[in-house]
Amino acid sequence: MEIEIISVSESPGKYIIYKPRTGLAFIGNHAMAAIAQRLAESPDGQVDVSPDIDDFLQSIGFYLPDPPEPPRPEDSFLPTTAVLLMTNQCQLRCTYCYAAAGEAPPEKLTPELGYAAIDAVCKNAMDTGRTAFEVSFHGGGEPTFNWHVLKACAEYAREKPLLARLTLTSNGIWSPRQCDWIVNNLDGLSLSLDGSPETQDNQRPLLLGGRSSELVMRTVAELDRREFAYSIRMTATAPWERLPQDMRFLCENTGCRNFQVEPAFNTERGGHGDSDTDAGMAFVRAYLEAHDIATQHGRNLMYSGARLGQVTTTFCTAPYNALIVNGGGAIVTCYEVASPAHPLSSISTIGSINDRAIAINTDARSHLHNLMAERRDACRDCFCYWSCAGDCYARVFADEPDGHQIRGVRCQMNRTLTEQLLLRRMAEGNGVWQKSASASVPLNGMEMEISS
Ligand code: SF4
Ligand code: SF4
Repeated sequence: MEIEIISVSESPGKYIIYKPRTGLAFIGNHAMAAIAQRLAESPDGQVDVSPDIDDFLQSIGFYLPDPPEPPRPEDSFLPTTAVLLMTNQCQLRCTYCYAAAGEAPPEKLTPELGYAAIDAVCKNAMDTGRTAFEVSFHGGGEPTFNWHVLKACAEYAREKPLLARLTLTSNGIWSPRQCDWIVNNLDGLSLSLDGSPETQDNQRPLLLGGRSSELVMRTVAELDRREFAYSIRMTATAPWERLPQDMRFLCENTGCRNFQVEPAFNTERGGHGDSDTDAGMAFVRAYLEAHDIATQHGRNLMYSGARLGQVTTTFCTAPYNALIVNGGGAIVTCYEVASPAHPLSSISTIGSINDRAIAINTDARSHLHNLMAERRDACRDCFCYWSCAGDCYARVFADEPDGHQIRGVRCQMNRTLTEQLLLRRMAEGNGVWQKSASASVPLNGMEMEISS
């Protein structure tokens, strides 16, 4: 039985007794924590426990064995999801854009690249007995900027002999005709929208400096009117105190049920800035407040580093199971590596498509996976091991020797948020959190997706 004993930061002498693989947590004092630890370590569970404690532990399912460990990702590469990185151009100039979309010479995915990726994932899905395959239209820039190719790829996928699930990640700056086509032809949407008009217009201005909020809110109104399923992806920046107000605005002005927020600490476009502890903890406080507001409105808010209840061996499935193609024809392991200019491009490029033929460099793929596995192995003593699983490599790997082993402020954020979310769940459950009794929170797209 695997158990974590977490000292409660603001209450000395109190401990969260946490079984991450079962999804169980409760509060105890030092003596209770010691008993739980002994029970977890005892091979036959033979520990002298008073009848009332034994009854309590029985009643919450403490003695239930952990489920089997989830399998590690397989070495074979038979992806059934194609991620098409449609363009590096965009109508917005978001202050934090990791891809610095619109600044490099234009590059667009061609129909031939899209068709080749679709052929491959459809074939893999059929060969492995799946009932569907997936095509996801994604950044570096705004996918709908490459509109005719997006439509051609969608139509091509629909003509395949297997069901195609088509999804889009977009900034929502669409014409009415584009909106109509998207609602009629796609199956899911992750809409990037940062909150109130003030925040949206500050962080996501139009290319020529105009306001984007009215255009996106017009899209939201149409999606809601037509009851189209979408999630909202927010990016939070300093001042962090705005995040709860932005969450409230979105709860009150959209019909969206599922939100994801990620912080951006960079003050310049074209990368992910490092956070200092003060900024990281300010995000944590703002996130918790926003999380409570979302809960009061019956909505789900999540942040990728603190996925309570998740039990996984990999933070994100994209580096293992997706066929991600950028406009230059490179096959990459992450949605963010839209061009060779990305600092992690050299470890993230695992093949190419030429003349509709797909070539995978298995050594390059194994090299990245080994780095990710080494990082996760070193996380074994962290109570977020099963939910964070070493975190998003695109966020935490530094471009330097042993840069894959750096534990920065993001670890502190993930751990603090996981602890605080456990406290909230236990408070809601009269002192006990049982995953089996909680509603599951759907994630976007891949097992975990961070998008622009
Ligand atoms: S979660 Fe991280 S690794 Fe996965 S696609 Fe997103 S940015 Fe890339
Ligand atoms: S040590 Fe950091 S990266 Fe590893 S599981 Fe914990 S929070 Fe995640």
